[in-house]
Amino acid sequence: RMPSSPPVPSIATEVLKQYWGYESFRPLQAESVSAVLQRRDSLTVLPTGGGKSICFQVPAMCMDGLAVVVSPLISLMKDQVDALRTCGIEAAFVNSTQSEQDKRDVANSIRSGELKLLYMAPERLLMPRTIDFLKSSGVSFFAIDEAHCISNWGHDFRPEYRGLRTLKQQFPGVAVHAYTATASEGVRNDIAEQLGLKNAEILVGDFDRPNLTYRMLRTQGRIGQVMEVVNRHQGESGIVYCISRKEVERVAATLTSNGVSALPYHAGMDDGKRQANQDAFINEKCDVIVATVAFGMGIDKSNVRYVVHAGMPKSIEHYQQESGRAGRDGLESECVLLYSGGDLVTWKKIMSGEPGGLRAAVASLDAMYDLCSGAVCRHRAIVSYFGQEYATDSCDACDVCLEEIELAESPIVIGQKILSCIVRLNRRFGAAHTAKVLIGSKESRITDLRHDQLSTYGLMAREGSAAIRMWIDQLVAQGFINRTGEYQTLSLSDSGWQLIRGEVTPRLTKAGPETKSRASSAG
Ligand code: ADP
Repeated sequence: RMPSSPPVPSIATEVLKQYWGYESFRPLQAESVSAVLQRRDSLTVLPTGGGKSICFQVPAMCMDGLAVVVSPLISLMKDQVDALRTCGIEAAFVNSTQSEQDKRDVANSIRSGELKLLYMAPERLLMPRTIDFLKSSGVSFFAIDEAHCISNWGHDFRPEYRGLRTLKQQFPGVAVHAYTATASEGVRNDIAEQLGLKNAEILVGDFDRPNLTYRMLRTQGRIGQVMEVVNRHQGESGIVYCISRKEVERVAATLTSNGVSALPYHAGMDDGKRQANQDAFINEKCDVIVATVAFGMGIDKSNVRYVVHAGMPKSIEHYQQESGRAGRDGLESECVLLYSGGDLVTWKKIMSGEPGGLRAAVASLDAMYDLCSGAVCRHRAIVSYFGQEYATDSCDACDVCLEEIELAESPIVIGQKILSCIVRLNRRFGAAHTAKVLIGSKESRITDLRHDQLSTYGLMAREGSAAIRMWIDQLVAQGFINRTGEYQTLSLSDSGWQLIRGEVTPRLTKAGPETKSRASSAG
């Protein structure tokens, strides 16, 4: 936590009050605003909802000239600009949806010196015509929103962002400021490097959301689990995220038929209907919105009491953002995530059809799965993913620390059985095969490889394959097992060998009814 905010020029506080009606800056906003006013390159990392926009909008109003805001999402520009105009701020956007006349109007308002903020997508900004025009227009600074899009280490790489590195050359005297909610150290450094920031002030906000209680459960009749959470929060606002549009329709229909006031939201619906459903949710005309990740960007509803993920999100960044839409008013709120190994497979299928950084995408996905299955404090796991330390021993606000997760009785013995099997398989096999050997599968692949001759063959027949797979995930998340390469083969880490010797204890959860039943049907 910040001890006390440094002084920010009083003009900034006055602007904040005059245009937005806010009394004071939030943590890190003052520092971030000061960096812009000092014309020092900067990178501000604040979680979603932390208030990044104010960090560049306020200085834009304090400084002479035009602030240029780069934003990747054309669909959000209009909302942002409308919101600014409502506050009495001269703001505009230029994009492909506008008529020639609209664009001429914007150009005129720049020439006349009235315009304070201009929103654009990178590809438009980087057109030689735009660059030339802006060179003669007196740019106060550049604000790069969603700056992680420049890094292919990140979860949302956009090649058109790469060109932004020319800004420092094209506008040598103008500062560039970057804003993102993605703080992992690698991405952070990459952003500064890719943008060519000079002696940048790097400001990283607090990623912990202490008022959120996290629960991450293996699926066990998904829809019933969703219903359970929704029923716990009768009459309260909640968001249910699903991976696919089909799932959105299915979940929304089930909720509705159970008397819940719920509406669907996804990109496959026609615009009018989608907007109407969003408005109904925001205006408290319905309690629950069932949505794909398309929902939520730029939406600002403070009293969302719970967020359910009916399927696992594709990265911890996405999870932080989506779950972070709960409890923006600071009141206690619940975030429940349902996950299965099948979700992992579903995402990999979706990702293999997407262009660009598949390897980075899969790494982010695996990190998400490890978080779910890892059985370590959720608050700690999330903030440490974002490169921050978590000082408290128990958060008292997650299923792990609240001890809602039942632990297996002899974790050392279970761990040792699994690890000795992995040792015997000699780094050449993945989790599925390892589990088959341990349950004593009679599949021909096992017998052909003569793995039925191994001393660990059938050693865990009683526990079943689903439970073994779960424990392997947990041993991976806790660093006892390495899972590497294209085939995700398993091998022991140093602490894995310590576990074999009985020097350390893993944290393994009890096999639930779901893992049992899957085991018996897996045969
Ligand atoms: P981000 O871009 O980081 O997700 P936003 O800029 O959209 O966050 O801000 C989230 C919400 O917080 C907005 O409703 C914004 O008006 C509000 N907000 C930002 N700064 C302040 C402040 N200093 N005081 C009160 N509300 C603020």
